Amino acid sequence: MITNRYRDVVVWDTERSSAERCDVITEGDRITSIIPAGSLSSGCAYEGRGNTALIPGFVNAHGHAAMTLLRGLGEELPLMEWLQKRIWPVENNLDGDLVKAGTALGILEMLSTGTTCFADMYFFMDKVAEAALENGMRCGLSRGIVGDSDRSKLKENLKLAEDYNGRDGLISVQLGPHAPYTVPFELMKEIAEKAKETGLGVQLHWLETSSEWNISGLEGKMTPEEYLSDTGMIDVPNLLLAHCVWVGKGSAPFYARDNVTFAHNPKSNLKLGSGIAPIPDFLNAGVRIALGTDGAASNNRLDIWDELRCAALIHKGAAKDPTLMTSVEVLRMATVNGAKALGFNDTGLIKEGYRADMILVDLDRPHYVGWDNENLPGFLVYAGSSSDVKATVVAGKMLYNNGSFTETDKDRVIAEAKTARRKLVGR
Ligand SMILES: [Zn+2]
Repeated sequence: MITNRYRDVVVWDTERSSAERCDVITEGDRITSIIPAGSLSSGCAYEGRGNTALIPGFVNAHGHAAMTLLRGLGEELPLMEWLQKRIWPVENNLDGDLVKAGTALGILEMLSTGTTCFADMYFFMDKVAEAALENGMRCGLSRGIVGDSDRSKLKENLKLAEDYNGRDGLISVQLGPHAPYTVPFELMKEIAEKAKETGLGVQLHWLETSSEWNISGLEGKMTPEEYLSDTGMIDVPNLLLAHCVWVGKGSAPFYARDNVTFAHNPKSNLKLGSGIAPIPDFLNAGVRIALGTDGAASNNRLDIWDELRCAALIHKGAAKDPTLMTSVEVLRMATVNGAKALGFNDTGLIKEGYRADMILVDLDRPHYVGWDNENLPGFLVYAGSSSDVKATVVAGKMLYNNGSFTETDKDRVIAEAKTARRKLVGR
């Protein structure tokens, strides 16, 4: 069993009212001891020197990692045109090897920016699982289901669960109906039934654009909330709704349930011109909110740190209210809330018994002068950036340390991704 020791690090998570200098020990994939700083002898441990924060790793609660291969395609087009003309035709040529190469590239980017777990909805998901396991990354995976008159994609998704759910303690599997406008109503019902029967969660794109309800043919027939009730989706074990830009504010109490999480993707929504999700209203109503990047073709960074800052700023500006979306709230979205949404209930806090998914942040940089135990979350969100990440630890293993990947040959991953990109896009 791997044991790692962290000496004199500044421990903080969203359940603590202030940070504290501690020594931390991890054994296997768990945090096993949090003790007063200086208890461990020097030389046997990672030295934090009282100016390295140890905080929970980020959970990217919505994305399509292999879309790193599609980065830059169809920039500045409206969503439907972007999907139909630039993205879907290229995606038709994807195969398992290409998806694996793109996913591995995404994992490198996520690890180096402090993400320890990612949600993914795509195709060839067994290859996504392979890439995650080879790189030691935690994830929640779903097979994107579109159309599917012969139920082959749903079967594939169920097979993915059979093969990978719980694998190495790193993977959880969800069902992945793409969206109400790409999945027939009856199939959506069937998927909800399957989720309840198997205990699997569901990842679903939800009200991303203003025209979505109209395109789905449901406008005037039923409300989005009636749709979730009538399909049974609202009662699945864990429902992760991505985007929620056009969810009516008045419906907030409907979504305030322990099995429901919104994945807020502020930068993807801004870039595609979809709008700004009314997140503060849902937060006030007690809806669990997580944070995601979406795919690299619509963001174009898989950098949660960037989303933290964006989420904390846009709602203040839009509502002309600087009290909205506090630094602690956005950090909670990016850590423990995302983990819960993917079924990792003991992840996202620096707590004994919790999974050792953590990042080390360099506080000895110019923009951190003035940090203290109380104001640390504000410094992280408003002054910090992913370039402050010194190390990323997943399940107790330090996968990224001082610019290097310990389990992964970075040069190989990048070379394979370049070849994959040329094959797929031609350049
Ligand atoms: Zn998406």
